[in-house]
Amino acid sequence: MTSKEFTTGRSSSGKKNANCSFCGKSYRDVGPLVEGPGDVYICGECIDLCQSILDQDRRRRGDSKKLFQKVPTPREIVSHMDQYVIGQERAKRTMAVAVHNHYKRLMLASEGESDVEIEKSNILFIGPTGSGKTLLARTIARFLQVPFAIGDATTLTEAGYVGEDVENLLLKLLHSSDFDIESAQRGIIFIDEIDKIGKTSQNVSITRDVSGEGVQQSLLKMLEGTVANVPPQGGRKHPEQQYIQVDTTNVLFICGGTFVGLEEIVAKRLGKKMIGFGHDPRDIEDQRRELLAKVNVEDVLEFGLIPELLGRLPVLSTLRTLTEDELISVLTEPKNSLVNQYTKLFEMEGATLEFQTNALREIAKVARAKETGARGLRSVIEEVMFEIMFELPDQERGRHYEITPEIVRGEKSLFPRDESAAA
Ligand code: ADP
Repeated sequence: MTSKEFTTGRSSSGKKNANCSFCGKSYRDVGPLVEGPGDVYICGECIDLCQSILDQDRRRRGDSKKLFQKVPTPREIVSHMDQYVIGQERAKRTMAVAVHNHYKRLMLASEGESDVEIEKSNILFIGPTGSGKTLLARTIARFLQVPFAIGDATTLTEAGYVGEDVENLLLKLLHSSDFDIESAQRGIIFIDEIDKIGKTSQNVSITRDVSGEGVQQSLLKMLEGTVANVPPQGGRKHPEQQYIQVDTTNVLFICGGTFVGLEEIVAKRLGKKMIGFGHDPRDIEDQRRELLAKVNVEDVLEFGLIPELLGRLPVLSTLRTLTEDELISVLTEPKNSLVNQYTKLFEMEGATLEFQTNALREIAKVARAKETGARGLRSVIEEVMFEIMFELPDQERGRHYEITPEIVRGEKSLFPRDESAAA
């Protein structure tokens, strides 16, 4: 091919009315065309499109090599999770084994070595709000470098009702993989509040699928493995729309729910009476924790999940309410812990920051009282730090700041009262 054949412009032969041979548009609409041998032209838009197809293909090949070269062992997975998730040892181990087996299965299948069909092990996490269910799923996806999407079962509805189609979860997964379908098909989807679509749960909205059972049915197909038609723009399906087909056979689903009241069902099965009001809240919590650890499939069925759904979530694990000490660890230990984040912010202002241990305990206490688990920590610490963060950039550099329990309780301030705010 000579350079003459590749001149840009209307066309190398000086032909004025050249059109792109791929999309048919005129050079007047799409700008200069690149000319090939014979009467062939291509426009910039089509070159970009070709480039993205090639990139996607290259990425797919590169990624599949990376993913399938070696699957981390359960021990490696747990030790990675330990850097981000405090406590929940049992859940970490259970998930590590399930995830290891899942990707091992995919690896063997891709090498054509699997003559035994190993079924995929979707996971059900049962545990209170803010105990780390989403965090576990997100952390494992990041570790394995697979696409990840989060959905909420309460917003999912059957087609025809107000809400999101189940396929939208797959669209989120596609977004997370930059529309690399191959890689999306090996991704992880976390579905929160799975307990809220139980057939016995009350549903207040009349425009929604009232029993929730319809959603369960459409979820079933997806969990099991189906080729779903995903509308690329999201939203409701239109008959004339083009769909992207996504096969969910190898997508790993992790579902989470708080299952409030499940302890009572376990207690009943074990013939135990639950202690109630008037007792030390700590005793009640210990008891809850013990009962939850004994949850089995029948209890979850009695709670109201339909058997088919539960059957597709063969790995069941419970998470505990985090203790005060664990909440302190959440504040300080993970790589991106809140204390580390604030320390970094202070560093950027040329200052140093220290939290007294008792101050951390105080923060953990306040957060625990909110009963939102580790989720509550952020708002508590933000409130404590609000005034300091407001004043800090105006202070002289090089100062050291120490957060005491009194400051956390609001009894003392690091700064003298601001005159202008008081006025
Ligand atoms: P849920 O159990 O409700 O899904 P999340 O995983 O969304 O809770 O937790 C909310 C936030 O609380 C997380 O982003 C994380 O910062 C923190 N968190 C919760 N549990 C843990 C934990 N076990 N270890 C460290 N951080 C946690």
